[in-house]
Amino acid sequence: MSKTPFVTKEKIEEIVKTYPTPFHIYDEKGIRDNMKALKEAFSWNKGFKEYFAVKATPNPYLIEILRELGCGCDCSSLTELMLSEAMGVVGEEIMFSSNETPASEYQYAQKLGAIINLDDITHIEYLEEALGMIPETLSCRYNPGGVFKVSNSIMDNPGDAKYGFTTEQLFEGFRILKEKGVKNFGIHAFLASNTVTNEYYPELAKQMFELAVRLKEETGANITFINLSGGIGIPYLPDQEGNDIYEIGNGVREAFEDVLIPAGMGDVAIYTELGRYMMGPFGHLVTTAIHEKHTHKEYIGCDACAVNLMRPAMYGSYHHITVLGKEDQPADRKYDIVGSLCENNDKFAINRMLPEIKPGDRLVIHDTGAHGYSMGYNYNGKLKSAELLLCDNKEVKLIRRAETPKDYFATFDNLPIYDKFNF
Ligand SMILES: *Cc1c(COP(=O)(O)O)cnc(C)c1O
Repeated sequence: MSKTPFVTKEKIEEIVKTYPTPFHIYDEKGIRDNMKALKEAFSWNKGFKEYFAVKATPNPYLIEILRELGCGCDCSSLTELMLSEAMGVVGEEIMFSSNETPASEYQYAQKLGAIINLDDITHIEYLEEALGMIPETLSCRYNPGGVFKVSNSIMDNPGDAKYGFTTEQLFEGFRILKEKGVKNFGIHAFLASNTVTNEYYPELAKQMFELAVRLKEETGANITFINLSGGIGIPYLPDQEGNDIYEIGNGVREAFEDVLIPAGMGDVAIYTELGRYMMGPFGHLVTTAIHEKHTHKEYIGCDACAVNLMRPAMYGSYHHITVLGKEDQPADRKYDIVGSLCENNDKFAINRMLPEIKPGDRLVIHDTGAHGYSMGYNYNGKLKSAELLLCDNKEVKLIRRAETPKDYFATFDNLPIYDKFNF
């Protein structure tokens, strides 16, 4: 199997005449078709709603594509709330799944009418203090601890994660909240990340549905939604098979029919907060090779760096690379593909077999549509790149300009030399 870019070399050469590399480019058609498939896969559930995890790709132009198909926003900070507000996404179209939340952000979320998803039992009092009341609709985040297993293989380690209420705390929290007047309850859990298996959501759903039945029976709480959050992954590796969203939707439906319907809870809405799955495959980081270096290893230096895509440096993540125009040439060279940071983890690929690369070649780094641009930073004074959208009609639209030095200096309010730069 192989990975094929959604843009051709010809198109990229045309684009760089207006927008120099590096840049992120996104595929409108891919984003839309994928969202349609998700909706269809969960159409059996009347209240189904995807709240896009804004942190994955906080660009209003991209989120708008999902919005047209009924998507809301999952936020966890002030500026993410503001971004949603600026798009006209307010009220219960916002899920505020934050943690270690300042009082001012709870207040802002409440002002927008967002659904608040509490991360901890102590936040009940904190929230009440911050708002002067407790909202009628409230969600709590669950963390069962231990490890999360699917068919006996360990998928992730919730016991080590900072998030959520323990089981005991959840029951106690529900009792307290009910007494304080909460009328509609939600439960939320995010127990494994980037899962490339159709079994994660169905297994999570089964556990959450059983929990919901017990919570209802033991506390009398009216549970109106269950939020399966993020975690559906994408195949970063070229030989990996991706998830089948229809099979995932079906698996969740089976659990719903087995557990919730017999308990008289067939009206419960299923929510998701997918980020990676919604955007990851539909973004490329496009960069130009500018140097070749032959020392103890073979290096290709490019004009992008970890500032544009942090995942390889931060997690050692694999991102597939295509050398545009050389797709059919043998991958007979072993390279480290590196950026310009004074930091030796600034490597997009290590010991990667690729066709011979020469300065001027354009490289497509795949699957950068989620947790790509958004994790960027300004180390070494590097500036963040532009974001482009390849529209349905194949036109290219600038959806965020590249940063300039003026942006970098903007937070020094009174730098004496500032005026001399002639920004
Ligand atoms: C990051 C995050 C998501 C999205 O996760 P993906 O792995 O991108 O699907 C959803 N919900 C919360 C609370 C998150 O922190």
